[in-house]
Amino acid sequence: MKFRISLILGILVLMGGAFIGLRPMLAPALFERAVAQRMSVDRVADLGPGLHVVLIGTGAPLPDPSRVGPMTGVVADGRLFIFDAGGGAVRRMGEIGFPGGQVERAFLTHLHSDHIDGLGELMLQHWAGGGADAPLPIAGPDGVEDVVAGLMQAYARDRDFRIAHHGEAVVPPSGFGAVAEVITPGVVYDDGSVRVIAFLAEHAPVSPALGYVVTHAGKTVVLTGDSTANVSLPPEARGSDLLLAEALNVDMVGTLEAAARATGNDRLAKIFFDIPDYHMTPKGAAELGQRIDAKRTVLTHLVPAAPNRMAERLFLGDADAEIGRDGMVITLRD
Ligand SMILES: [Zn+2]
Ligand SMILES: [Zn+2]
Repeated sequence: MKFRISLILGILVLMGGAFIGLRPMLAPALFERAVAQRMSVDRVADLGPGLHVVLIGTGAPLPDPSRVGPMTGVVADGRLFIFDAGGGAVRRMGEIGFPGGQVERAFLTHLHSDHIDGLGELMLQHWAGGGADAPLPIAGPDGVEDVVAGLMQAYARDRDFRIAHHGEAVVPPSGFGAVAEVITPGVVYDDGSVRVIAFLAEHAPVSPALGYVVTHAGKTVVLTGDSTANVSLPPEARGSDLLLAEALNVDMVGTLEAAARATGNDRLAKIFFDIPDYHMTPKGAAELGQRIDAKRTVLTHLVPAAPNRMAERLFLGDADAEIGRDGMVITLRD
């Protein structure tokens, strides 16, 4: 399907270059065809059997057009679960063919703003985009109930406007918003096909902060959430097929701190000084992967953002891990 999308883009570029004079005539037909093909894309269903991990947003609070805020999708048996909802991530979902309307359940690692900035948009997509007749379940650590209650209030007017405009058959009032579920470490979801175990991450003073172990069809992925590499992982993480670890490059953040100080922005410099103590380095992530005997370690939530291959190489250094990118799909199956 990725091939099909890039083919459409390729055709459009080609047509634009070769038939520049005919463009006004061709544009409507080309647009119509591209839209029809785009609408028929269902990447969630197309992925087929196995456990699929979709890196939707691999960024963090620092802006970068190539990396939106943190969000990871897990697809199992044509069902889409998401972990965190950072800013821009719901739009990225649409761009890469995993629309927010298809999300069945959301899990939050913690309540730092960069992990929840996209929640309102996700709730809206689940309801108005997906036509849900029940609210989106959002599981997260203590405090998630306040976040959801606040968003429900913030979106109350929008709900009324949309019902008035489109009608209850299109946007069922019963499907508006979300329902919060406060979870603690242990098994937090198990439907016989997908099992999710939450564990405590090391992200003080953020407490509690969670990471997750997700298992489906004999395959396991570990999501560290935001954490130092000293985190103690549950036994189920051992031998996992994929460790998806957050990462912060201390030297690069040090450069940002020095630049902030040099330009007289001591407040920003202090923030850059503070943040390395509750994240893990690329090397720390790789070592964590080795400690649990993970088959593959991929980095996400990159701080600072690495907008091109050169920056990615600088970010990674000699750590034995891979850099994740927005839109990357990792399929785990035999
Ligand atoms: Zn974060
Ligand atoms: Zn955080």
